[in-house]
Amino acid sequence: MLRSEKDAPAAVRRRIRGMRAVALVAYLGVIGLCFASSWGPRVLWAALVPVLPLWIIAVGFHTWRQTCPLAALGALGVAIASRGDPARRALGRPPRPTGRPPRRPPAWFERWSFVVSLGVLSAMLVLRLVAINGDGTWLGVTLIGLALAAVATNLALGGKSWCNFVCPVGVVERIFTDPRLRETASSQCAACTACKKHCPDIDQEGAYWKDVRHPARRAAFYAYPGVVVAFYAYYWLREGRWQGFLDGTWLRTGASARLLLGPGFFFAPRVPAVVAASVTIGALALASYTLFDVAEAAAARWVPDAEHRRHVVLTLAAFAAFNLYYAFAGPPALRRVPGAAQALAFAVPVISTWVAARRWRQTSEGFAQARGARRLLPLWTLDTPPPRDPAAVLAFFKGQEIARGAQLGAYREALQRVALEWPIRSRDIRLLERLRADLAIGEPDHRRLVAALPDPQRRLYEAKEAAYAEKRRAQAAGPHAAVGARPEPAARTMTHVRRPLN
Ligand code: SF4
Repeated sequence: MLRSEKDAPAAVRRRIRGMRAVALVAYLGVIGLCFASSWGPRVLWAALVPVLPLWIIAVGFHTWRQTCPLAALGALGVAIASRGDPARRALGRPPRPTGRPPRRPPAWFERWSFVVSLGVLSAMLVLRLVAINGDGTWLGVTLIGLALAAVATNLALGGKSWCNFVCPVGVVERIFTDPRLRETASSQCAACTACKKHCPDIDQEGAYWKDVRHPARRAAFYAYPGVVVAFYAYYWLREGRWQGFLDGTWLRTGASARLLLGPGFFFAPRVPAVVAASVTIGALALASYTLFDVAEAAAARWVPDAEHRRHVVLTLAAFAAFNLYYAFAGPPALRRVPGAAQALAFAVPVISTWVAARRWRQTSEGFAQARGARRLLPLWTLDTPPPRDPAAVLAFFKGQEIARGAQLGAYREALQRVALEWPIRSRDIRLLERLRADLAIGEPDHRRLVAALPDPQRRLYEAKEAAYAEKRRAQAAGPHAAVGARPEPAARTMTHVRRPLN
C-alpha cells in the first residue's frame, strides 16, 4: 500500500529527512566550493552528476523526489505562498481563506511538461559546453539561479510545479524509473494543490499508464538518448579529437568569449560554439526520436497492442539512454581509480538489463490487477498469509464471490420451495432463520431476496413474517398479552397463490 511520507514509519521518515539534509548540505556546499576554489566544477561534474541516475534508480523515484535538494529548496516557494498557514495549522485552525482559486499551471504547460523539461535540460547542457563546465563562479551562479527558479516556479504555479514541469532532472528521473521500479512511501505533497493531472508523486505507476501514449512523453523519452550522445559527441565535434574530453581539460577551462562564441565545429570553425552545440543537441535529439519512432512502427508486427508497443519502445529508449550515458560519463571520472572503470562497465549493462526486464513485464492490466488485489487484501480473513501473486488473490476473492452467489441462490430456492408448500408455518420461518445462519446470510440479503420473489410469494412471506414477529413479541410479553393475537395473515392470503410458481 502506498503511503505518503507523513504516514510512513518513523524510521523511514527519519531516513528521508536525513537524506534530504545531506543532499541540501551537499548542494549548498558545492555552491560554496564553486566560489571558493576550482574544485566546485570537478566535484559536481566528475563525482556527483555521474552518480545521479544510479542513485535515483537505487533509492527509487519517490525517495529521490523527497530528498532532491532542488525540490527541498523549491518547497520554500510553497511555504511562502501559504504564509501564515503553518502557524494557523500549528494552532489547529483551518487555512486562512484567500478568496482566490488555487494556482494551477496552464493546461498546455502541464500537457507538454516532458518536452519543457527536456528543453530546459538541453539548454543547460549547451550552457555547460560553452560556459560553466570548468568555471566555478559561473557554475555557482547557475546553481543559485536554479534554486531561485525552483522557488519562483512553485510560488507562481503551486505544488511541485518545478519538479513536474521545469526541472532538467525531472524528465530524466521519469525516463529511468517509470512506470515503477520499487514500492516506497509516496512523495505526495502535504497539501495538494492539484498542480499535475496525473501526479507521479501520488501514484507513479498509475500516472504512467494514464499517459503512456501521450505524444509529449514519446517525444521526450525517444529524443533523450540522442541528447546524451550529442552532449558528449560535441567535445569531439568541436576539437576533432577526444583528448580534451578524456584528460579532463574541459573541467579546467574557465568561461570566456572564445569558449562561448569561438569555433563551434572543427570542420566549420565559423559557426559560433553556442550555435554549434545547440544544433548538435537538437539534431541528434531529432535523429534519436525518429529512430525510436520508426522502431515503434516496425514493432507493430510483433507487438500488436499499441499501448504495450509504446511501453516496450519507451523501455528500450531508457535502456539505450542509461548505457550511453555511462559509456561516456564513467570513464573520465573513474580513470584515476584502479579497476573502477571496468567495474562500471560490468555493472551498468547488468543494472540496465535488470531494469529493462522488470519493466518489460509490466502491463496496465497487471497494474490494475495488483491494485485490485491490494484493495481486497484487508478483507483477507484466513489464517494463512495471502499469496504474493495479485492474480491469485483476485482468483480467491472471485471464488468467494461465486460461492456467495451459490449460497444466495440456494437460499432463494429454499424460500420459493417453502412458499410452494403453503401454508407457510412458524416452523418454516424458524427453519429459514437457521438456514440463513448456516449460510451466513444477513437480514438485508434476506429482505432483498424476499422482495425479489414473485408477488404472491412475496406477500405470503411478508404477512407470515409479520404475524410470526407479533407472536414472538406477545410470547415475550407473557401469556395474557397473547390472548388477543390475530389469526395468521398467511392463512388468509392462500387464495392468492397459484401453482406452479416460477
Ligand atoms: S498534484 Fe498535488 S501531490 Fe502532486 S505534485 Fe502537485 S501538489 Fe504535489
